[in-house]
Amino acid sequence: MGEFKLTTVEEFEAGTNRLLETGAKVGADAWQFRVKNQTPHCKFGEQGICCRICSMGPCRITPKAPRGICGCDAHGIVARNYLKFTAGGSATHSDHGRSICHTLYCAAPDGNYKVKDPEKLIRIAKEWGVETEGKDIYDLAHEVAYMGLSEYGKVFGTQNFLKRAPKHTQEIWEREEIAPRAIDREVSCSLHMTHMGCSSKPEALIRQSFRSGLSDGWGGSMAGTEFSDVLFGTPKPIDTEANLGVMNAENVNIVVHGHDPALSEMICEYADSPEMIAYAKEQGAKGITVSGVCCTSNEVAMRRG
Ligand code: SF4
Repeated sequence: MGEFKLTTVEEFEAGTNRLLETGAKVGADAWQFRVKNQTPHCKFGEQGICCRICSMGPCRITPKAPRGICGCDAHGIVARNYLKFTAGGSATHSDHGRSICHTLYCAAPDGNYKVKDPEKLIRIAKEWGVETEGKDIYDLAHEVAYMGLSEYGKVFGTQNFLKRAPKHTQEIWEREEIAPRAIDREVSCSLHMTHMGCSSKPEALIRQSFRSGLSDGWGGSMAGTEFSDVLFGTPKPIDTEANLGVMNAENVNIVVHGHDPALSEMICEYADSPEMIAYAKEQGAKGITVSGVCCTSNEVAMRRG
């Protein structure tokens, strides 16, 4: 790594424009071209006042038609759309956390996935009331991972990680009845409430969107973050490089993408192995460069640079 240099927005934009020009020459599509074909956007969709929940619709709210066929008004339609977005986001990021819990459950000392931060695992186990004394670290990992997986469908009670929040915040969640229960239950409850003929009360719908969002932030996503550290190591400040220049024309370039680091970490492991580097050289390359896009790029960069 050379001297530290911060890339400016202008440099990012210049790099992107060069990429678009090169891409256009070979007929590559990009969002910058697609967005032009989609504008102007539908005003009803933009304002969230279009409902497609049931087959009597779609219904659109206008001054002449202030309610959908079922009687739901603009506030109910906007709130239902908002809750559906929230449930989709919670499902997405929490499912990533579930996959990480499952990976930890499968971790083994002689397997591909190992426990790299045992201290953190012990800290979480103690926080969750699990006996740690004299336990094999992999037995403990499996026990805690099983508990993590159980948070998704827990029968009674609320999320374990909520206790990390300041006391007064926990009291607000309890008082407002938005402390999240099982993660999957909150997603399911959101889809139930937004279904035709169920809730059209905006206050109730927005309250459920808080609870569903919290089930992700203080449940699934938190499990994903914590157990990723246990599996792949807790990140520390590290130098890294960004922008398209990270790719090396003389190397095999692999770009990881997605939001679950379980696969990208293995790609990095194998890209670093002498066997794979020798194979890349045999094929005429000088080495292997792994770079990334989006969340997985961040996961890899913050642990490996
Ligand atoms: S749920 Fe109501 S507002 Fe939505 S499409 Fe059906 S009838 Fe129209």
